[in-house]
Amino acid sequence: MFDLTGKVAVVTGGNGGIGLGMAGALARAGATVVIAGRNAEKSSQAVADLKTQGWSADAIEADVTDEHQVARLFQEVMVRHGRLDILVNNAGSTVRKAPEALSLQEFLQVMDVNLTSTFLCCRAAHALMKVGGSGKIINIGSMLSLLGAPYAAAYGASKGGVVQFTRSIATAWAAHNIQCNAVLPGWIDTELTQGARQQVAGLYEKVLARTPAGRWGEPADLAGIAVFLASGASDFVTGTAIPVDGGYSIA
Ligand code: NDP
Repeated sequence: MFDLTGKVAVVTGGNGGIGLGMAGALARAGATVVIAGRNAEKSSQAVADLKTQGWSADAIEADVTDEHQVARLFQEVMVRHGRLDILVNNAGSTVRKAPEALSLQEFLQVMDVNLTSTFLCCRAAHALMKVGGSGKIINIGSMLSLLGAPYAAAYGASKGGVVQFTRSIATAWAAHNIQCNAVLPGWIDTELTQGARQQVAGLYEKVLARTPAGRWGEPADLAGIAVFLASGASDFVTGTAIPVDGGYSIA
């Protein structure tokens, strides 16, 4: 039910953090994973690490905010691997400032990386998945798809958008046998949140105190949901937004 042998998956930002955690899980389940990121060195290292485990992986350099680079990415996936079954839109970034201190450029940059890239990659993937007869799309939201935070107006707007966008494409593409779901990670220990911990005093302890599971998450905590939403086990699951947060969002 969870076997991904013969499937091809693209994971944006799959060269580190949560993306690499999910890429590893998909590869372990049998998929060939294509990592799409800007930093070619980081991507090559991630591919080497996955291959060392005996798994199938590849990297294609792409800035997923750029329409032309996204088109080239999916063309290249078809040239090298001949099919596309799974897309994980994980690339993300933030600018931590009070809303009134955000410049237009900063606001749009966060929207572009988190939301516009998701649209561009989903649109390109849909064309291939429709022809292929099936597909699985996993869009990475956040706790800030649900909650507000004073330093995350652009990030929260983009991640709320990711959930609503996911619901819309789920309804549009169900008839093409493409299931589209969002995953909302809680506080996961990655480069992104290490940056937040440096900027926000006491963040580590505050998250611990509020998380019923009593710990921060690790990229490996996203492995199970990635395989579930990428596999036949979730064929009747679409349009959902699933928190993976140790209970943070309900406490
Ligand atoms: P990281 O900063 O560790 O990873 C972000 C990844 O996104 C990098 O691999 C980076 O690759 C890639 N990326 C950024 N911009 C672009 C771009 N324009 N084109 C291609 N790739 C890009 O962050 P996390 O692993 O923590 O976060 C991954 C996702 O999970 C993000 O969407 C984030 O918002 C979300 N999230 C994270 C949480 C956490 O607690 N860590 C909580 C909730 C959500 P490269 O350097 O090669 O560009």
